[in-house]
This record gives sequence, structure tokens and C-alpha cells, in this order.
Amino acid sequence: MPKSNLLAVTSITPDHFDINQLSHQRFKVYTAKQLDQIPQLQQLSAEQRFEMQVVASVLPFRVNQYVIDELIDWQQVPTDPMFQLTFPQRGMLKPEHYQRVADAMRNELGAADLKALISEVRAELNPHPAGQLEHNIPKLDGEVVEGLQHKYRETVLFFPSSGQVCHSYCTFCFRWAQFVGDKDLKIAARESNQLQDYLRAHPEVTDVLVTGGDPMVMKTRNLRAYLEPLLSDEFAHVRTIRIGTKALTFWPQRFVSDDDAEDLLALFAEIQAAGKHLALMAHYNHWKELEPEVAREAIRRVRQTGAQIRAQGPLLAHINDDASVWARLWQTQVELGIIPYYMFVERDTGARHYFEVPLVKAWEIYRDAMQQVSGIARTARGPSMSSHPGKVEVQGVTEINGEKVIALRMIQGRNPDWVQRPFFAKYDDQATWLNHLQPAFGEERFFFDE
Ligand SMILES: *Cc1c(COP(=O)(O)O)cnc(C)c1O
Ligand code: SF4
Repeated sequence: MPKSNLLAVTSITPDHFDINQLSHQRFKVYTAKQLDQIPQLQQLSAEQRFEMQVVASVLPFRVNQYVIDELIDWQQVPTDPMFQLTFPQRGMLKPEHYQRVADAMRNELGAADLKALISEVRAELNPHPAGQLEHNIPKLDGEVVEGLQHKYRETVLFFPSSGQVCHSYCTFCFRWAQFVGDKDLKIAARESNQLQDYLRAHPEVTDVLVTGGDPMVMKTRNLRAYLEPLLSDEFAHVRTIRIGTKALTFWPQRFVSDDDAEDLLALFAEIQAAGKHLALMAHYNHWKELEPEVAREAIRRVRQTGAQIRAQGPLLAHINDDASVWARLWQTQVELGIIPYYMFVERDTGARHYFEVPLVKAWEIYRDAMQQVSGIARTARGPSMSSHPGKVEVQGVTEINGEKVIALRMIQGRNPDWVQRPFFAKYDDQATWLNHLQPAFGEERFFFDE
């Protein structure tokens, strides 16, 4: 083989990459009860470990060995972004909540009382932002269809019941309430049949978004049971299947060395071969998630099936509120064949006060990051809020007739006629969500307000 060919091959799979070594890696996870068993945590003080226990009793905690060993830089703890992304920090609870739970744990309050206190605190953390439980729940023949959400005309969200955990949990997760074990907080599907019945009755739906939790925690045979039926002629109106996942970050072995990884890739190829578009909606927060060789191998394998990977994730204080982090994230994604899709605004739930970034500052970071990359990497929509009326993008700050305003655009709307409408809010450099904003120009309400 000529030398140039060899070089071409090694540039696809670098020679230091040893798949056999990876295939020995088994999935091992730690939850709040096993915090003390994580060797790396011994470098922290007893007080810091207690603080983690307190926070982890309220907010979900789950982290796996790969994240601990390969993603976190323990020399940089506690400021390391991957540590902040997965490990509880005292500031994630408001001082009064922290005090109440910490006192209860120090005084060894009885199990039942502690449980009641924790439920009370959770209920004060707005567990269901944007009315997730009351709204968007579809019905079929007058009966509620569980495990589905249908907010925007063309896209149905599907929450398969066996995909409602993740390989690790993000400390800022907006779906945290699903993970803390309260049964009535869960929205999960029982049957693939319900999805099919619903789609049969709704020919306007072109996109099915399988989400969670993380559907990639499912065995391939379970995922296949949901997706394969959608490839038949009666679902010809379903053009795109999206899978929301953070497995490319938290457990790339899912696509590389897990027992059913090959079968998973075969399923992806099958969906593409049936003429549908398959998109992995990959959740990324930091370029560090793209560095391990196994993460890059997973991306290569997914791309080889013809599936596309689109990247989205929130802008967060303590993790990625820095333009150069986003510029490097987008540029690296492009080089690996991933399309930047959304920059989200952290939702009004859970540990939001710890992570939130004012909308104006978020836009400044977005703009600064955009200016550092070429047009190819400028495909991510600006800071976007998934609010009750729809997805609202912050387009920027400007001045109109002497009034300083924030320009916004509705990119997705519960009313299809709202989509792509621009609108304006009074300038406010503290606002962190749509409900903090007032209409500009002395108007009484935004166009979407009743
Ligand atoms: C973002 C979102 C979608 C998909 O919107 P696109 O603009 O098509 O990506 C669908 N449903 C819900 C509830 C969403 O938040
Ligand atoms: S991967 Fe997504 S659903 Fe899972 S914990 Fe993180 S933000 Fe939440």
C-alpha cells in the first residue's frame, strides 16, 4: 500500500487508539449512597463531602467511572467544568434550603421526617417548568396517551419508559424531577403501541423525537421495538427520527464496545436505508467532552451509519459561560462532523439560581463566540428559551427610536402562525427568563399573550 493511503487510514483511526483495551471497560455507576466509595473524592475535606451528601439528597446524583476517570480533571476540582457538570455543589441549593436539610442530616432526623422535608424542598424548586405536566399531554379518543408530548405541530416527543435514566446525571438537569423517584412526577410510556396509534391519527407529525432521560440507556432490542415499526408504509408521514442523548459524552462505549453496539449501529443504518432521516440530538456543554479517543470513535461510527449528529446544550455559569469555550466546542464539533444546532438558556427549575446567566450576557457570549469561528460553525441558534408559548431566541440588543430594547424571535410556537415572528422587550440586563421581560414601546403585552 502506498504511504499516502496509510496516512489516510491512520487519520481516521489514530494508531494510539486500541479498541481491545476499551472493550474491557464495563459500565460502573455511583449514586448518592456510594459517594464515599469514589476514591478521587478522598482529596476533598470531610465538610465538602458532607455538603455533597446534603445536595445529593435533594437533587439527583449519578456518575459513572468513565466520567470520573476520563472527563474530570481532578487537579482542577472544584472548578473543573466536568466536575461541576456532574457533582453536587453546596451553592446548588439556596442557603435556606441547604441549612434546613443539613441541620436535619446532622441531627439525624428520622427517615420519614427527612423524606418529608426533602419532598417539601423539591416542591419549592419548580419541578415542572413551562407547565410540562398540565400542558402538551396528548389525548387519543378522549384518553390521555402516556409518555408522549405534542407541543409543536410537526414534532412529537416520546419518552420510552425504559429510557428514563441517564448514564450520569447533569447537576443542572431540567428534567431532574423525573429522576428523584416520585412516581407521580414521572412521564413515561408503557407501550410502543400507544406511539403508533397516536402517529396513525396524526398525519401532520413529521418528526418523532425519542427522549428521556437518555434513550441510549436502553438495550438495542428495546429501542428497535419502538423504532422499527415506524419504518413501515403506514408511517410514511414520519420523515425524521431524532434521538436526544448525552451518551456520546457520558458513555460513548454504547456505540463502540457495549455488547449490542454493533446491533445499534445496524439499526441506525436500517432507519437511514428506509429513507428516513435519523438525527442524534447530542447534548454537549464543553469541548472537553469531545477529547477522549473513545468519544471520537463513537462519533465516527454513528456517522458511518448515515445518521447525523446535531449538538445542543445550555449556557451555564460555572461550566461554559465563556465565549472561547463555545467557539472551541463548535469548531471541534464541525471538525468531527457534528452540526451545532442550539444554545439553550438554563430553565427555571432545580438549581437554576446557581447556573443562570442573564439573557443579555448570554447573547454577548454567543455573539463573541460566533465572531471567533467561520460561517461553517455558526449554525447554532442563539440563546433560546423553551418557554410556555414556544422557543424564543434572544437575537440581540439594539436601539429603536431612542429606546434600548432586546430583539427576540419565536423559533417554535404552540401556535404555528407564531413561528419566526420577531418581537421586542424593554432592555433588562438582569432578566434570565422570558417572564422577567416587559414588552418594549410601552405596549401592554407580547403578541402571544392572550
Ligand atoms: C425544541 C422542541 C421541539 C423541536 O423543535 P425544532 O425547532 O424542530 O428543533 C419539539 N418539541 C419540544 C417540546 C421542543 O422543546
Ligand atoms: S443527559 Fe439530559 S436528561 Fe440526562 S441528566 Fe443530563 S440534562 Fe438531564
